[in-house]
Amino acid sequence: MSAAARVLCTHGYVLMQDSCPCCDAESETPHKADPVKVVPSWTKRVHTRCRRCAQIPSHRIHGDAR
Ligand SMILES: [Zn+2]
Ligand SMILES: [Zn+2]
Repeated sequence: MSAAARVLCTHGYVLMQDSCPCCDAESETPHKADPVKVVPSWTKRVHTRCRRCAQIPSHRIHGDAR
């Protein structure tokens, strides 16, 4: 197992694996993107997600990615 397979979100949940109520709340709120590379357990592909909301960093809520 690579260490990248278990990346925690800002709130301490496993990004893209656990459902995090804080990430759900953040995904409604504009904030700065905090991109991190994640490899979910079901694939070898690397995904880039925001640690604060688990969305893709180019999502509209990220003010600096317009
Ligand atoms: Zn979270
Ligand atoms: Zn975000």
